[in-house]
Amino acid sequence: MKTKNRMAIIASYFENESYGLLGPQIAATIIEDNTDYECIVIAVTRNDDKSLIKKFLDEYFGKEKKIIGFSSLSGREDLFSFSRELKNEGAITILAGPQSYPDYIGETGWKEHLHRFKGFSGSFSFSIKGPAEQAILLLNDIENQDQWLSSPGVTLISPDFRIVSNSAKAWNEEFLRTVKWNNLYRIGKEGIMPIKITVAQVVQQIGCPYAGRGHDIHIDYPADLKAPNNEKISIFSKGCSFCDVAADKGFYGELGMDTVLSQISALPEQEDGRKIPFELINENPLFTLPVLLKEVKQNKIRLSQVNLILRADYFIRGETRLRESLLIARETGTRILLSSMGFEAFDDNLLRNFNKGTDVETNLRAIRLMRDMKKQFADTWSYSRSDGAIHGFIHPTPWDTGEIFSNTQANIAAYGLERDILPPHSTPLIIHHACALGDWIREIEEREGIKYRRLGSIIEWWKYE
Ligand code: SF4
Repeated sequence: MKTKNRMAIIASYFENESYGLLGPQIAATIIEDNTDYECIVIAVTRNDDKSLIKKFLDEYFGKEKKIIGFSSLSGREDLFSFSRELKNEGAITILAGPQSYPDYIGETGWKEHLHRFKGFSGSFSFSIKGPAEQAILLLNDIENQDQWLSSPGVTLISPDFRIVSNSAKAWNEEFLRTVKWNNLYRIGKEGIMPIKITVAQVVQQIGCPYAGRGHDIHIDYPADLKAPNNEKISIFSKGCSFCDVAADKGFYGELGMDTVLSQISALPEQEDGRKIPFELINENPLFTLPVLLKEVKQNKIRLSQVNLILRADYFIRGETRLRESLLIARETGTRILLSSMGFEAFDDNLLRNFNKGTDVETNLRAIRLMRDMKKQFADTWSYSRSDGAIHGFIHPTPWDTGEIFSNTQANIAAYGLERDILPPHSTPLIIHHACALGDWIREIEEREGIKYRRLGSIIEWWKYE
């Protein structure tokens, strides 16, 4: 009997963690359920010894061609180099997941501007954008390069240096009904070890509604360059100007309740019989949360904790539905954790430059509501840093001035934000080459005749020559 074909997906991971990786794990599930391939996901931390992973891959694939997907790489140069090494040794390496298309073909205008990011096409046989089920057709005849050229979602640079980029298929929620959460592994000295997931994700929305429609926005010059006549730079932005999810996915819409319930049913259980905590992937979750919790209850599914990620304005608008949800959650013994609120800043100039669509007043109203809810639903509702929440706070930024610093500090002190809201460390502004701020910084380069340094796919806005 022929043994099954094999495939592996490599993804970036943090040390000493046990969270699930929805994108890669759902892709491996779709591949196993719809092809004759076995597929595992290998979580790789920065400290992992790549020679051990290579040794494992040699044994896992044996004499067969190595077919290795790479997804959710978090811009890690070590993984791009690792893929290049495997490709040079004859493996078929595939770049998938968020930003796979722009990261494969490189930054706008890199051929004319040699300091720009040239893309990772040398590290991968091809890239694939869009839904994971596109791999089904490819895996029918993966060694046939003519098939790559005609498969949906594939982008590759052909031998005569033409970019071939096929449109992606539409999302089909039939493929999003279940995830095998037991297909994630680490490779160490002792060989392959399964990761027992303790926090998972459930997808309810693809993309972000705030990124549904774009418009022109006007962004300040960086604080260390003098803007002629206080000019601003106009760029087109879908969603927040720094957001690569917005640039990559826009907004595709929401999945049916039945699909979401099916994913929840398939989650692993804790020892007490409740489902493990999960993050609900939905940027505007309060709109449907009461219905979801009622359906879960009717289906006799017991939840431990639902983690929410929200914008401050959506949170305020959803207050009534949040109260309704918390009453149901209290009845069923479920905790609701607001695990991340995208505040990003406590200064209106910064929020405008981020195109956040909110202002400081909205952020502060949201904080008052978060705290009020804790008084009323202490047993069910959590939101604070000590509960494990990490709220969005971006600092430093290119626009920081003494005035912005004083405004921010005044708000932090007046509203006691250090007590429960601010994360232990802020996150510096990261400008991925394909987000809207990438266009802003390239325009600054052109106008000022300067060149910002690139670190892989990231534009280092703090270093120029
Ligand atoms: S940062 Fe959040 S709210 Fe803004 S566009 Fe991205 S996903 Fe949407």
